[in-house]
Amino acid sequence: MFDLEEDKLLAEITGRGARRILIQLPDGLKNEGTRLAGLVREKTGADVFVSAVPAWGACDLSLDAATRLKADLLVHYGHNEFLRDASNGVPVVYIPAKSNHEIIPVVERTVSLLQGKSIGLATTIQHLHKLPEATKLLETKGFNVHTPGRGPWAHETGQVLGCDYFGLRRIQSQVDSFLIIGSYFHGLGAALSVEKPTILADPYDGTVTVLDQDRDRIVRQRYAMVDKARRAGTFGIIVSTKPGQSNPQIALSILKQVEEAGKKAVILYADEVIPQKLLDFTDIDVFVDTACPRLALDDPERFSKPIITRDEIMVAVGAWTWEQLLERGLVRL
Ligand code: SF4
Repeated sequence: MFDLEEDKLLAEITGRGARRILIQLPDGLKNEGTRLAGLVREKTGADVFVSAVPAWGACDLSLDAATRLKADLLVHYGHNEFLRDASNGVPVVYIPAKSNHEIIPVVERTVSLLQGKSIGLATTIQHLHKLPEATKLLETKGFNVHTPGRGPWAHETGQVLGCDYFGLRRIQSQVDSFLIIGSYFHGLGAALSVEKPTILADPYDGTVTVLDQDRDRIVRQRYAMVDKARRAGTFGIIVSTKPGQSNPQIALSILKQVEEAGKKAVILYADEVIPQKLLDFTDIDVFVDTACPRLALDDPERFSKPIITRDEIMVAVGAWTWEQLLERGLVRL
C-alpha cells in the first residue's frame, strides 16, 4: 500500500556512484528491507546495510552509523526532509513512502461532523499527494478550505509533523475547525496544538475521530504532571543525540532556570529515551524532555516518574503561567 519508489532508489545510487548504502526504514516498513537490499545489490552491485534500530522520523537520521560504516549514501524511508540542518557530510536521499490508501471515503464521513464552513485541512507526507482530492471534495460540499503553509520543520505546504503544527496555528483565526488526514498520532498532535475543534480522518483504518475529548483529557493530565513538577526538588533534563531532536542549548538554559528557582538539575544525554534506563536515576524526581515532545505528551504512563516538556518546565519554575503555555500549544520541539 506504499510507493517505495524503487526506480528513484536505483537512480540515486547509480547517479551518485554510491558503493555502500545504509537504508533506514520506519518499523512498519522494516519487512521491506530484505527485498530492497536484494534489489539494490542485484541492480547496482553496491553493498547494502539495513538499519535495525528505530527510525522515528527524519529527525532521527542514522548519520553517525553511516559514517562508522563508511557508507557513501544514507537512504531514509518514510519521511521527507526535516528542516533542521543536521548533515555531517553523508548524503541523504529521502523516500517518503507515499500511501496508496484511498482518502475520499473517510473524508466524506467527516462532512457531517465538521463545525462551521471554514476548514483548516492538513495531512502527513504519506497522503500529501492526495490533499487536492480532499480539498475538492470539501469545496463541492460548500466548505472554504484553508491549507497551512510549511512550518519550521515540516517541509511542505499542507504537511504536519508530530512536532510541527505551526502552520495550523497560523491559520487558526481564519477557520472554524480543523480536519487532519492521517494517523491518530498526528491528529492528536494537531488537537493539542490548536484551540479549535479538530477531527481526524484515518485512511489506514477508515475511522473518523472527534478529538476534543482526547485533548481535554490530556490537558488535564499535563496540568497534574506540571503540578507535581512545581513541588519537585531534582530534575533530569534529557537531551537527545538524534540529529534533529538534539537541543543542548535549550537544556543548558533550562538548567539555569531550574537552579535559579532554587532546585537541583542534571542534564542526561541519550539516544533512545528508554523508561527502564531512567529508573537508575533514583535521585531524580521529574524528567524534562527536550527531545521529541511526544515522548512526554503521549505516553507518560510508560515512565515511573513524571516527565514534562521543555515548555511545561517554564510553568513549573514560574516563568510562564499555565494559560500562556496553552496559548502557545502543547507540542513544540
Ligand atoms: S514528532 Fe518526534 S519523532 Fe516525529 S519528527 Fe518530531 S521529533 Fe521526530
